Amino acid sequence: MKYFNYRNGHLFAEEVGIAQIADRVGTPFFCYSSSALEKQYDSLNTALHPLNANICYAVKANSNQAVIKTLAARGSGADVVSKGELLRALAAGIPAHQIVFSGVGKTAEEIHFALTERIGQFNVESLPELELISNIASKMGSVAPVALRVNPDVDAETHEKISTGRKTDKFGIDIEDTPELYGRATKMSGLKTVGLAIHIGSQLTSLKPFRYAFERLSKLVQVLRTSGHSVTHVDLGGGLGVNYIDETPPTPMSYAKVINETIGGLDVEITVEPGRFLVANAGILVSKVIFIKETAVHRFVIVDAAMNDFIRPTLYDAEHCILCEKEVSQGVARPAQIVGPVCETGDILVREVHLPNLTSHDLIALCSAGAYGAVMGSSYNTRLPTPEVLVKDQEFSIIRPRPTYSHILSLDRIPSWL
Ligand SMILES: *Cc1c(COP(=O)(O)O)cnc(C)c1O
Repeated sequence: MKYFNYRNGHLFAEEVGIAQIADRVGTPFFCYSSSALEKQYDSLNTALHPLNANICYAVKANSNQAVIKTLAARGSGADVVSKGELLRALAAGIPAHQIVFSGVGKTAEEIHFALTERIGQFNVESLPELELISNIASKMGSVAPVALRVNPDVDAETHEKISTGRKTDKFGIDIEDTPELYGRATKMSGLKTVGLAIHIGSQLTSLKPFRYAFERLSKLVQVLRTSGHSVTHVDLGGGLGVNYIDETPPTPMSYAKVINETIGGLDVEITVEPGRFLVANAGILVSKVIFIKETAVHRFVIVDAAMNDFIRPTLYDAEHCILCEKEVSQGVARPAQIVGPVCETGDILVREVHLPNLTSHDLIALCSAGAYGAVMGSSYNTRLPTPEVLVKDQEFSIIRPRPTYSHILSLDRIPSWL
């Protein structure tokens, strides 16, 4: 989080005071650092350079066009999982041939649109999907580049809700069934079968599951080649973890080393799809204390951000660090639970944290909020969607404004008979 620092006792994003942004934008808001995004991208790109691998940013982690464009300017491609994300990636300037379309449930409309735009690759997860893509491509007189997403049956040793590579998960094609399906795909007239893809889960803090999955994938490539199939592309997915509290995730260099040791000798074009790794620690969620409520059991710090702004703690039991806008050196007060105003018991941002005494109107920042934050927001309780701000050196720009209440209300329609 080194792009969010104290200067003269106040929290800054790069060279802009958080309090100054709060004055302009109001709270809560997400604040991202351009330099942090660029530094993460560059560190991975440097580590992967000897492998000549493509980086396709998994847009679902943070799909603001300004964020995508920041990464696109460094040469990033995109991994998208819907037509909406595909439109965002294209609008942010990512060339279509650098876009991979993932997901278990692509609709005919989405496939048709992606083919019209001539995206780089479809990662396909079932026989019916292969048939649908082939049919649509044939009708268009086009050929769809496809890779089969394999389920390598590996436990990513991460949170239950973000593990995707076990036999019981909905994702991918069973590794035992892949050779047969690969053969069938190569015979479909609308397809060009280029290779294999995997994505075993998110927030992996150990290299072990990666190594195991990549080894299985490598063996499968050899099996397919022995059967006479051509395999030119391998997509290793995302999943590289980050530090939220005290995790020690693998470094990009050690991740690249595992790729090199397992896939490096295959003579294939390698793609990776990092999401969280690129954006998580490039963002914070700034909010304002509304009340301090002391009960016999807890000291509740009630802030103006809630589970609708940031659902990770509620959905994944995620833990995040807190920074106060005013740097404080005094001793800590009674442990606090930081909660939002939403009418749900689960609306907890931080379960227990030792903070100095805060009062109403103080600003706090929830750290590592750049990934799976704004994108998962809702307007539950008719709260306004959270604005996003991007900082670059001494400048900041509102990259998604807070909508007005009249806009939100105008989206409903009252039937004429009511
Ligand atoms: C979510 C997802 C990613 C990104 O995962 P991270 O853990 O954020 O790196 C990459 N590929 C696919 C197919 C995904 O579904």
